Amino acid sequence: MNQEKQSQPPRRMNPYVGLLLGLLIMLFLNGLIVPSFTGRQIKPADYGTFIAKVDSGLVKNVVIEKGQIYFSAQESGKEVDYQTGTIDDPELVDRLLQAKSPNKDGKIVFNQVIPQENSPLLNFVLTWVLPGLIFYLIWRQTGKALQARMGAGGNFMSFGKSGAKIYADSDVKTTFADVAGQDEAKDTLNEIVDFLHNPQKYADIGASLPKGALLVGPPGTGKTLIARAVAGEAKVPFFAISGSEFVQMFVGMGAAKVRDLFQQASEKAPCIIFIDEIDAIGKRRDTGLGGNDEREQTLNQLLTEMDGFDGRKGVVILAATNRPESLDKALLRPGRFDRRIQMELPDLEGRKAILAVHLKHVKCDQVNTDVVARATAGSSGAELANIVNEAALRAVRMGRDKVTTADLEESVETVIAGAQKKGKVISPSEKKTVSYHEIGHALVAALQSHSAPVHKITIVPRTSGALGYTMQVDKGEQVLMSRDDLFNRIATLTGGRAAEEVVLGSISTGASNDIEQATRLARAMVTRYGMSQKYDMMELETVNNAYLGDDTSLTCSAETAADVDREVLNIIKEAHQKACQLIAGHLDIMHEAAAYLLDKETISGEEFMAIVDKHTTGDSKDKEQK
Ligand code: ADP
Ligand code: MG
Ligand code: ZN
Repeated sequence: MNQEKQSQPPRRMNPYVGLLLGLLIMLFLNGLIVPSFTGRQIKPADYGTFIAKVDSGLVKNVVIEKGQIYFSAQESGKEVDYQTGTIDDPELVDRLLQAKSPNKDGKIVFNQVIPQENSPLLNFVLTWVLPGLIFYLIWRQTGKALQARMGAGGNFMSFGKSGAKIYADSDVKTTFADVAGQDEAKDTLNEIVDFLHNPQKYADIGASLPKGALLVGPPGTGKTLIARAVAGEAKVPFFAISGSEFVQMFVGMGAAKVRDLFQQASEKAPCIIFIDEIDAIGKRRDTGLGGNDEREQTLNQLLTEMDGFDGRKGVVILAATNRPESLDKALLRPGRFDRRIQMELPDLEGRKAILAVHLKHVKCDQVNTDVVARATAGSSGAELANIVNEAALRAVRMGRDKVTTADLEESVETVIAGAQKKGKVISPSEKKTVSYHEIGHALVAALQSHSAPVHKITIVPRTSGALGYTMQVDKGEQVLMSRDDLFNRIATLTGGRAAEEVVLGSISTGASNDIEQATRLARAMVTRYGMSQKYDMMELETVNNAYLGDDTSLTCSAETAADVDREVLNIIKEAHQKACQLIAGHLDIMHEAAAYLLDKETISGEEFMAIVDKHTTGDSKDKEQK
């Protein structure tokens, strides 16, 4: 679904094959290949053997040719073909005439092939035209291969025009129905669709629509998909090209490609040009060393072309990127990509809709997308598509012909934590440690009011290296996180280690991932969310790239940075202490739940909560009041 397909020209026969065929035909005409002597396999023999066989009266046929003698002899009831070289032997003819033969008339049949004189034309072709042709073809092929390696299209060693045809997909099947959610984006794009349907309507009133729209958003949110859908909805040709395809070996080639693209597009107007991953060419032109001439020329050409063509003609340019902050300002000014369409990670409803869209393509019974959607907060459309596919694969593996909710749930875990690692041997004492660790997480989560409910606890090892995990699933969707939410989450993360400490009295390496996550959260609380008293609402860190992970850099002095570390540590310590207290106060639950988990390996949130409730309902509102 995701392939930016371009219609390809029909493949031509490889020129080498044609050449070889031609050569064979010529050699054949030229008599270099004996037109099948008898059709049997020909054995080599020396001249002496030939003479001996002739003398012994076993030879039936002899064909003498320039340089070669072919003969067949009777051998133990069968006829065998031989080949030998000619020798200047004046007595050969006499010998053949006199020799006996198994032929009916007792005589050897022999003749000489008359060497055919080539026609002068054929000679000319063979000596002049053919070698030239071979050289030409080799040159062309190496040229193409070279170019392919340089990641280029177009014509080797020609400048000014890239010569490459950029094929337009004139029958895009994707429509807005294939894109779930993203209603704001669809609204904006609908106007473009309408414009493409009827450019005249807009031209009449004197309005020109935005020439370009820039789709921005995290990877996998459907930018490429929705661009295709616009073409599918508008039923116009779709020129899709990736930004990196413009970046070529020689300065000027990329610019030529841009010119070609716009020329071809304006011939097919109304149509859509889609430049995917435009940051490959649209990066800010910076001063100083290490500038990239080719890229800048290409960008300049793109800017010029966008200014140059008539906005009323009906060529709309869409571009997609997940690094909008790196784009050159000139690209974003009015008259170029002046519309910005934000593609967001889907919310709960969006995730349900995306799952539904993709489940339409697989056979399934009534599946509960709700629980899956809730378990996948923060996942992109691409990840959800992958989860559905994993579920279908799992159904096949299990020998079923329909996807079930269980398949989907399992594939969520496969995508989050890796596949189950069945063969891994874990010693009983390690297993015990893991189950206390996981129950520690779950118990701390359960005892805090600001935590997502526990959905599942498992100690089945995963290929990602996790020996077990506790899955928490929020009831609804949370947009804002309070300080308590974050703090409790850190406490939950430290709960695993706390359980090891409190219950087992020793600590293990199993908490490394928890430590990483807890620290990241605590740091964000201090540096980005202004949740420490000391630094109030001061920004201490900026996020470098909003859509590509948490890549941050400090904006404070080194002194402050050292102090920030202390603040972060305090938060983690506080949370850790809280977790230890909660666990120490409920050791009965710990032991019972851990033993149960050790036995079952995977337990559901309800099973776990039943144990918790059994022990806590007596004590008056044991749950923390906040
Ligand atoms: P991007 O270009 O933003 O990185 P793509 O458009 O390539 O993402 O999306 C990848 C795949 O994810 C799509 O082919 C589609 O299967 C799925 N997908 C993403 N977003 C959606 C959505 N909103 N609705 C349905 N499928 C989606
Ligand atoms: Mg894309
Ligand atoms: Zn843990």
